[in-house]
Amino acid sequence: MTIRARLTLIYSAMLAVTSFLFGFSLLRLLDWAWHEQLRESMRSVAQQVTELILNETNGAESQPAIRKQLARMPYLSFAVQVWRQDGTLLFTTGNVEYSEPFDAPSLHSRDEVVRDVRLSAENVHALVYTAPIYDNNGAHLGAVQILSPLTTLDAASERLLRVILVIGLLVLLLAFIAGLVIAGQVLQPIEMINQTAKQITAADDLSKRIPYKGPPDELGQLALTFNTTLDRLERLFMAQRRFVADVSHELRTPLTTLQGNLDLIRRYGADAISLEAMESELKRMTRLVGDLLLLAQADSGRLPLQESVVDLDTLIVEVYHQTKVLSQGVKVRLTPPEPARVKGDPDRLKQVLLNLVTNAIKYTPEGGEVVLSLTVEGGYAFLRVSDNGIGIPKEDLPYIFERFYRVDKARERQIGGVGLGLSIAKWIVEAHHGRIWAESEVGKGSTFTVQLPRLDAEIEPESARDTRPRLPILGAAKRKNSSA
Ligand code: ATP
Ligand code: MG
Repeated sequence: MTIRARLTLIYSAMLAVTSFLFGFSLLRLLDWAWHEQLRESMRSVAQQVTELILNETNGAESQPAIRKQLARMPYLSFAVQVWRQDGTLLFTTGNVEYSEPFDAPSLHSRDEVVRDVRLSAENVHALVYTAPIYDNNGAHLGAVQILSPLTTLDAASERLLRVILVIGLLVLLLAFIAGLVIAGQVLQPIEMINQTAKQITAADDLSKRIPYKGPPDELGQLALTFNTTLDRLERLFMAQRRFVADVSHELRTPLTTLQGNLDLIRRYGADAISLEAMESELKRMTRLVGDLLLLAQADSGRLPLQESVVDLDTLIVEVYHQTKVLSQGVKVRLTPPEPARVKGDPDRLKQVLLNLVTNAIKYTPEGGEVVLSLTVEGGYAFLRVSDNGIGIPKEDLPYIFERFYRVDKARERQIGGVGLGLSIAKWIVEAHHGRIWAESEVGKGSTFTVQLPRLDAEIEPESARDTRPRLPILGAAKRKNSSA
């Protein structure tokens, strides 16, 4: 059974039960109120009759006088009988021809009794009120019985019941239809989600979204969550697709070059240029495969990181000396570093710095300058690599840390970049609970900053630690593992 049908049925059933209880209570209440009123009236008539009878037995009133008195009383639909203690009828009103007591079993009762009776001869449903009559000395003289036919009341009750039933059924029918419509409307987003999911599966198209335009209630939230999940899935899927394409592309170019040079060598014999080209492509491929392996290990959480105390000031000086000699035509400068210690893997942190400095040198024209600095602020150490090179366009800046992202594909391929250096740097920095970002202006230069939580800081770097993904830092890992 569909949720819609179930909801409608539950709703209608609840309404039916409520209406039934309401109708039943209403009927009972009205019945009770009518009876109560009737009983009051009968009690009052009985009292007056008793008084008249007592006066008459004292000789003051005669039968016709009683009759006359009674005629003046309201409630003429009542019939009155007065019975003596010995069972003989003393008096009866003329409006009912009935010689038997209205309610024989209650006739000798010592207390007042009200009973629902059915007069056997006429088959009339009536209420009979019996009150004993005592004289002033307390002697039981007989009883007065007042009868009120219930036919009108019964008819009214029955009519009311019928009206309630018909209205109840109508309301139930309307509620059922309205319930179906409302449930259908409320569940429409679910239906949309279902349809969208089906279309995605059928067409293998992750770009579809749920076109939900309702209020941000639970279903709205569900639609939103679903769309967000799809966004993420689509992005991951695209990234994976792009990754495979990029890897194949990056591998194909050096392979083609190798093949070409090999053909040349086979035909004309080995020459220095061909061999150099082949060596360069091999190096490039080796580096690419190494980078890919590292990223794959990082992704699967199997890249072990050493956990030792690293003096960043020593590290930056090492990197400075190492890169100073590589920088053809670009001046590398180091501002005096402040001492800073962090916990982490010295080789990996050095790799980050080397990646940044080689980038800076690579993307700075001859005569330019690259400045390294290390400062300390609060609980953090800040490593900065600035250059006055070509810079990065604003629209590319958000993507440079993505795998295989290169600002100018054609040119950077010649320079030798694959586009993995910054994504590796980002991963390493984040594994150390740090942050990395870039500021740049085209033609003016770029500054890359690495922020790392300091070991010797007094304040625990909560914010940096909590926002970073927790990746395994294995204390026992050996260097030969991490260089794999
Ligand atoms: P790889 O580092 O894998 O050899 P790469 O240097 O091209 O290749 P990344 O280091 O990831 O790749 O850098 C990504 C892109 O960001 C570069 O291709 C380049 O366009 C841009 N970029 C990085 N650093 C700088 C910089 N200092 N100045 C200008 N552009 C830069
Ligand atoms: Mg690089």
